[in-house]
Amino acid sequence: MDNYHRKRILITGGAGFLGSHLCERLLNEGNEIFCLDNFFTGTKENVAHLIDNPYFEIIRHDVEFPLHLEVDEIYNLACPASPPHYQHNPIHTNKTSVLGAINMLGLAKRQNAKIMQASTSEVYGDPHVHPQTEDYWGNVNPIGIRSCYDEGKRCAETLFFDYYRQHNLKIKVARIFNTYGPNMHPNDGRVVSNFIIQALKGEDITIYGDGSQSRSFCYVDELIDGFIRLMASDDFTGPVNLGNPVEFTIKELAEKIIEMTNSTSKLSLNPLPQDDPKQRQPDITLAKKELDWEPKIKLEEGLKKTIAYFDGLIKEGRA
Ligand code: NAD
Ligand code: UDP
Repeated sequence: MDNYHRKRILITGGAGFLGSHLCERLLNEGNEIFCLDNFFTGTKENVAHLIDNPYFEIIRHDVEFPLHLEVDEIYNLACPASPPHYQHNPIHTNKTSVLGAINMLGLAKRQNAKIMQASTSEVYGDPHVHPQTEDYWGNVNPIGIRSCYDEGKRCAETLFFDYYRQHNLKIKVARIFNTYGPNMHPNDGRVVSNFIIQALKGEDITIYGDGSQSRSFCYVDELIDGFIRLMASDDFTGPVNLGNPVEFTIKELAEKIIEMTNSTSKLSLNPLPQDDPKQRQPDITLAKKELDWEPKIKLEEGLKKTIAYFDGLIKEGRA
């Protein structure tokens, strides 16, 4: 591709789990990538294999602060996503979502760039509507330990739609449901990485609560495909649910991982964290209709690749 047609794409949170996959995919498609990160939960290792490409650039920056850059598209992913990490410094998490959205929307406005927000199923909180549809306004505690993340993401959505109405900005909002795969940080604290590492090491599997709460797990490659389709869509703003609608209880997930790793690990029951949603499953009718997008990778198939990734990290002494 010649430089005139090469799109300049900014990916905030580009060194994180989802961001690193997105950087690779968009770089391979012939774009110029600016991978912006403050390396709070992301690592250079996640994008080390891209660094020699002359169209890939890392920018160490915190989205709390404004940025000036010439870009055509922005994917705003910067924000810690795992509960232990986003609760570590809740004020910073909230600032990352809210000030990050303001700064990136300001940049998009100045550059007349398209901008996609990585929102979350957490905007539905502990949902009373199941499965969750985009027109459901949610059941969110505004003052609990998950609120820094949930309310930060809700406020970011508000800002996106205000910039759309007030400045006619080309916005896209993806509500991402639990996604897993290689490049999750080994100490990330989310359920899939925790259980796989525990199972591979023969340690107890830490179930929070009785394991009857449910989640629906999407393999990373399919989610990234959803992002790219959303960005390429014409006048469609979303919000749109992106996730795999096949639902499992946390206990079922633990048992599946023990079986797939031939592990001797036992289940251990631990206290359920405050405000932990009891059930979560995306209704993806809108994504099917507007983006022709539907995940096909079964949990076992995605887990197989993710187990191989963490097995490799453990053998290298990195997990
Ligand atoms: P992650 O923690 O692996 O990646 C987040 C990245 O953002 C990291 O590289 C981190 O260092 C960076 N970051 C954090 N704060 C920053 C700041 N202030 N300035 C610059 N960079 C900053 O998480 P992920 O799973 O890759 O999630 C990416 C995005 O997708 C997040 O916005 C998250 O809320 C959203 N999301 C993810 C999931 C999921 O299941 N993975 C589900 C819902 C929403
Ligand atoms: N969970 C668990 N053990 C762990 C980590 C998480 O039982 O070691 C549970 C957690 O309480 C939640 C579900 O697994 O009910 C998914 O947690 P995760 O942190 O991955 O994401 P969430 O969907 O809660 O944001």
